[in-house]
Amino acid sequence: MENHTTHGYAFGPMHEADISELEISFGAEACKDFVIEITSDRSWYDAYFDPQNHISEVLDAFITNGYDSLSDEQKAMFKKEMKEHLLKCGWCESFNWSDAMFIIENGLCSYCYQKREME
Ligand SMILES: [Zn+2]
Repeated sequence: MENHTTHGYAFGPMHEADISELEISFGAEACKDFVIEITSDRSWYDAYFDPQNHISEVLDAFITNGYDSLSDEQKAMFKKEMKEHLLKCGWCESFNWSDAMFIIENGLCSYCYQKREME
């Protein structure tokens, strides 16, 4: 199923295979930067994360000690949250951590967004 936002692009939800591929990059600095960004933006955080599921503890542990320090249960929670909230570019279906927030906000990766501006 595809979602549509006000910018009009159908953006790509993450699938199980996408998130499994991404898992190797959970230790990357750019992934950590993204998690810091979402956890420091209160309105974004409140809109996307259910306070009942203790994900904030997992995200805090992730930021402080890294993905490898999480328990298997926490890793599963982290993966599930990322799968639910990350999106791929609506045009080229690519994803990278430094563009993660940009895609959420614009529906396109920064490269496709620029290409669109030039058309
Ligand atoms: Zn793109």
